[in-house]
Amino acid sequence: MIVEMVTGADVKKVDDVVQKAKSLGFQVQLNLGTDKVVVAILGGHTGQVSTDTFAVLPGVESVTRIMKPYKLASREFKAENSLVSAGGVEIGGKRVVVMAGPCTIENEEQLMKVAKAVKESGASVLRGGAFKPRTSPFSFQGLEEAGLRLLAQARENLGIPVITEVVDPHDVKLIARYADILQVGSRNMQNFTLLTNIGRSKLPVLLKRGFSCTITEWLTAADYLLAEGNTRVILGERGIRTFEDSIRFSLDISAIPVIKRFSHLPVIVDPSHAAGHYSLVPAIARAAVAAGADGLLIEVHPNPKEALVDGLQALTFSDFARLMAELRQIAQSVGRYL
Ligand code: PEP
Ligand code: MN
Repeated sequence: MIVEMVTGADVKKVDDVVQKAKSLGFQVQLNLGTDKVVVAILGGHTGQVSTDTFAVLPGVESVTRIMKPYKLASREFKAENSLVSAGGVEIGGKRVVVMAGPCTIENEEQLMKVAKAVKESGASVLRGGAFKPRTSPFSFQGLEEAGLRLLAQARENLGIPVITEVVDPHDVKLIARYADILQVGSRNMQNFTLLTNIGRSKLPVLLKRGFSCTITEWLTAADYLLAEGNTRVILGERGIRTFEDSIRFSLDISAIPVIKRFSHLPVIVDPSHAAGHYSLVPAIARAAVAAGADGLLIEVHPNPKEALVDGLQALTFSDFARLMAELRQIAQSVGRYL
């Protein structure tokens, strides 16, 4: 249930609503908007309580039931777009934020070269995997903490914030020491223990869409992060599994306007994991910016042929620089910049 307070309602009136909800056994989350406070009343049995229970309280403007399974990620709870700030970068504003780097951190030379190149081309966040969730247990699993140290070194040297994936819920604290944004991979979108731990860390998080999950399931998973009071949530569309087999995953371009319609959270697009092939990445990236994505996550490697992981989908430095120039024009044409 969503309780919207009248403009300028004082703290006492808001607190009366909160106390009433708590006395009935519900959980509560507040959205402190610029001129209005919205109180989300959460819990399995809200359906058994009349909206009048709250509508009669002083300072309450309206009470609505949210019929969707996700509550905190919904536009009903928060009408205005959320801006997520991470390491000095703002995601969800006018700027299209490009996060780029290697799929996997391989060694110091590789990471520093990519970091420098992507920064020079205009990327504002460096990506790099240290803990890699691989389809096969026999594939390279990443450099783990040694990789995180290299990532932190690149951040130090170049002043660029970094994003990396957390696979194990027990690793949240470790990775939080090195990263500005935690990434939840597609295979872990519904790992609820991981989401709860990341929620508690309050760190910015990129929640990638599970490749077999609906948008409703994705937004409901985002509620696990938001329920812990972590408001810095970014969504990441990275392609879903369909019957089409000419591409690794089918990028759901319509997820962008759908998310914008139903949620206040920023959404970025990963064209690399959808495409699975470098030649397809630029067109998907351009389409995503045109469709209103708040950012992109792109894999770049100094020498894709030699990459330990995902070389086929990695862009070279020159391809990345060319794509950035194209994206700049598209961003401008849709009232954004890059
Ligand atoms: C990645 O970004 O490194 C990755 C493994 O992506 P996904 O979880 O989308 O497959
Ligand atoms: Mn990859």
